[in-house]
Amino acid sequence: MFCRNCNSKIENTFIDLGHSPPSNAYLTTEDLQKKELYFPLKIGVCKKCWLVQTKDFIKADELFTKDYAYLSSASKSWLEHCKNFVNYSIKKFNLQSSSFVIEVAANDGYLLQYYKSKNIKCLGIEPTQYAADLAKSKGIEIISEFCNLETAKRISNQKGKADLVIGNNVYAHVPDIKDFTLSLKELIKENGIISLEFPHLMRLIQKIQFDTIYHEHFSYLSLTTVNLIFEEADLKIFDVQELVTHGGSLRILASTKNSFHEKNPSVEKMLNDEKSFGITNLTIYENFQEQANKVKNNLIKLLVDLKNKNKKVMAYGAAAKGNTLLNYAGIKKDLISYVFDKAESKQGKYMPGSHIPILDPKEIFNKNPDYLLILPWNISKEIIESLNELRETGTKFIICIPEINII
Ligand SMILES: [Zn+2]
Repeated sequence: MFCRNCNSKIENTFIDLGHSPPSNAYLTTEDLQKKELYFPLKIGVCKKCWLVQTKDFIKADELFTKDYAYLSSASKSWLEHCKNFVNYSIKKFNLQSSSFVIEVAANDGYLLQYYKSKNIKCLGIEPTQYAADLAKSKGIEIISEFCNLETAKRISNQKGKADLVIGNNVYAHVPDIKDFTLSLKELIKENGIISLEFPHLMRLIQKIQFDTIYHEHFSYLSLTTVNLIFEEADLKIFDVQELVTHGGSLRILASTKNSFHEKNPSVEKMLNDEKSFGITNLTIYENFQEQANKVKNNLIKLLVDLKNKNKKVMAYGAAAKGNTLLNYAGIKKDLISYVFDKAESKQGKYMPGSHIPILDPKEIFNKNPDYLLILPWNISKEIIESLNELRETGTKFIICIPEINII
């Protein structure tokens, strides 16, 4: 196995989560009668460029099928975050009705809808047909393809180059990170801006967020590594911002090397913070498995204890990260009887691997759980608030990362 970025041999393991099915491969009742595909979920770290990456490569089109159920508009707090970004970008980059914005992985149009409402010309690139159709129904122009250098060249020829190219939570999902970076460069005008948001590896390690590791995430990113990849592509990261989304993300702003955008001190500061944290030292990577195992074992212990006390334990949020957690911990429906999720596309289906049935949250009062494990802990506040009525009837909420917390 060689590094996706610098081609060095990957010899060090960051974490081995055993075998698991792709975390968005939700199953129908019919699927339960068939064999289920499992892939190794083993993550390595490159000692040269420090890119943390999946060791076993599955082709992207095997993972992102037309049934791929993740829709960005499902989370209210995420929509709020995006709306704020749109307003911020319009002001900061002086975007006008003559400007052009492209979003890579535009999903269901959750973000571009806000540019559209401000009469700013926009275009989305989205390979998942289901999400792309939803975006189109919002009146957003979508090119339904994976974004790579070849696609980007064609788009920039046909549609022109953009003032702003946005990629939120897509950078970690691309198997060929170098080609993808070049495609972003291809899509921007001379002084155009690239804005990328991705979960921050430093937070993943600090907060033991091993459940955010799944096959669809090919890379786990620090600014240190992203900066190397951008420099290699003759791009310049000129600003970096820390975000609370997805348990701690970075937003980087970049442009071509010779653009007029000046480097903000935030870039140097974050590079230094990462260095002091140990991003360029093997120790933090080598210690991670043991920390993750501790979290996993504490959760199993709690669930078994509750089972022995005849408590009804269910979960909320059929998120991808929930599947990593449940599958690594080997938790099945004897310990967690149901998972509730607002997404209609998941309701009536089963969690991959664990086969826990997914129900409409409307059922939650009938099922009346004593404990509800919140799987998407990154939006736990929003979830708990929306379930306040349940809390008043005595249901307790469990969050297990970075440690068990019962609310
Ligand atoms: Zn490397």
